[in-house]
Amino acid sequence: MRHALLLLLLIFVIPGFSAENRYDLCRIYVLNHSDYNYTEFKKKIAFSKRYRGRYYRVFPFKKLKFAEYYLKENENLHTISSKLGISVDSIASSSGIDFFYAVKQGRKLIIPNFQGIIYKTRKGCSLRYLSRKYGSRIKDIQRFNNFYGTWLSAGRWLFIPGAIMSPLEQALFYGTAFSNPLRSSSISSAFGIRKDPKTGRMAFHGGIDMPAPYNTPVYSAHDGVVEFTGWAGGYGRLIVISHAFGFKTFYGHLRRINVKKGMKISMGKIIGRVGSSGYSTGPHLHFEIRRYRKKLDPKRYTTLKHRRSQRVVF
Ligand SMILES: [Zn+2]
Repeated sequence: MRHALLLLLLIFVIPGFSAENRYDLCRIYVLNHSDYNYTEFKKKIAFSKRYRGRYYRVFPFKKLKFAEYYLKENENLHTISSKLGISVDSIASSSGIDFFYAVKQGRKLIIPNFQGIIYKTRKGCSLRYLSRKYGSRIKDIQRFNNFYGTWLSAGRWLFIPGAIMSPLEQALFYGTAFSNPLRSSSISSAFGIRKDPKTGRMAFHGGIDMPAPYNTPVYSAHDGVVEFTGWAGGYGRLIVISHAFGFKTFYGHLRRINVKKGMKISMGKIIGRVGSSGYSTGPHLHFEIRRYRKKLDPKRYTTLKHRRSQRVVF
């Protein structure tokens, strides 16, 4: 079920794509004009911006090339993007990065000399579909990929010239996709190390606590599939929803659960009611966002503001 959802959404994530094996690869060492490859790439990228879905016959064809670059201190994808004049989408896609904040110093980036994204084909995917979805001409897709057939096999890597991420992909990429699980937005206990309200000892808090009266409706923070419902130790009555790109949201201490495992849920749907079940000192929602098991600070990935109230609840 989870895989079905992932397939429904465009598979933008491309671990396993290796520019080295398929294309010319050079290296950019520094981001200034003392570096020949930097200058060359900047020129080609500027040229590629004239692409408006009609490369073929309009411009002389420039061969697709990639450069590797290792991210330095105080740099992120935006730095590289603005220096080279290429979209973050293009760099992230070619480098197999599907989450903006996962990029750290020393990370190898693969930068194309043309704006566009890498796409992994799946069963039933046609050139016509890709052309319509991304606004690139079929002939251009063929030419950029040295591919002149019409039938696409599944699992093939393609460079789509001029393409950018869809709004959904962008929202997930930047982690801003999640909406508030409650109508109110007060937070009584933040994410991170804090004093346990019951034992008084310091402990890691993997989510945020949002106080609300009993039976306040709880809304799904994004489209997804219900992965778990039921009692889970300290969480009490818990709902876990899995989303695209490895994201999961957790809703704990519920009084009532209105969904069943395997159900498809859209963002903003009522999934349960606030309670105080499990390890809790009063009615509130414990809300967690995880990505590949790593717990993330929900405040950073939603539009929630942090207003600390006096009472600490678990
Ligand atoms: Zn909590």
